[in-house]
Amino acid sequence: MSKKKKVSVELTRRDFLTLGATAVGSVLAAQVFTTGPLSPFSVLKQQQIEGMPESSGGHGATGENHWGMVISLDKCIGCEYCLRACSATNDVKEDMAWNVVSEEKNTNGITFFFSRPCLHCQVAPCVEVCPVRATYVRGDGIVVMDYDRCIGCRYCEIACPYDARKFNWEARSDKNRYVPTWGIPEVNRRPRGVIEKCTFCIQRIDKGLEKGQVPGEDMEATPACVNICPVGARVFGDLKNPESSISKVLEENPTIRLREELGTEPSVYYIPPKEGL
Ligand code: SF4
Ligand code: SF4
Repeated sequence: MSKKKKVSVELTRRDFLTLGATAVGSVLAAQVFTTGPLSPFSVLKQQQIEGMPESSGGHGATGENHWGMVISLDKCIGCEYCLRACSATNDVKEDMAWNVVSEEKNTNGITFFFSRPCLHCQVAPCVEVCPVRATYVRGDGIVVMDYDRCIGCRYCEIACPYDARKFNWEARSDKNRYVPTWGIPEVNRRPRGVIEKCTFCIQRIDKGLEKGQVPGEDMEATPACVNICPVGARVFGDLKNPESSISKVLEENPTIRLREELGTEPSVYYIPPKEGL
């Protein structure tokens, strides 16, 4: 596991100007503009500070549970069932998929399939740059959106090093091609002008817990992408519970997290393909 590394915002102007167009550069730039004294949002931020949602402040699950996912790149067959079930269940627009699947090649030219939801980072750059805390880390580690608070500045979209956020440019009137074959929408469509992303099917987790179900074990309380996977490439559960299925998978397999060097502490782990990456 990588050491936690907090991205510093104490940049000199020269430092800022010499930063490249890398993901970290984007994060830092967004932080300077959103949290610095010259920020056009500084007044707004002060005004909105009251009544802010409960949050761990973007630095990890502080509660009893920490929900996470393991994706086996060794098992994945690239069928895109996870993308379809996600898009139906969360009523996601076709060109705004929350869960993407792509075909990749390892260094020896061998094909494998890669899929990516939001990684629910515990040191989340998207959370750090949001001027109105419309996105935050819950006590259970899930990075959520408050669509009512979002002002559509898109800083979080730029800050995310994993391209997991999508902006609603227009009010939706499209027909969801995955409904009803792959699922029935369980949440409302998001309005024009806000950012959206994978929620780990938070509606299922919250309802399931109320009913005494265990996310990752009881299907009703488990993300749609995990339930639908025909080869069991996705495992979901409580990273804080050493007895959970996900903890056992993590114990028994070598895993990696995406771009560990950024110190974002994703809650999604990957089992590499047998042939290597
Ligand atoms: Fe891979 Fe499973 Fe998604 Fe299919 S459903 S693309 S096998 S993760
Ligand atoms: Fe935020 Fe991107 Fe991490 Fe998701 S993957 S928590 S959107 S930085």
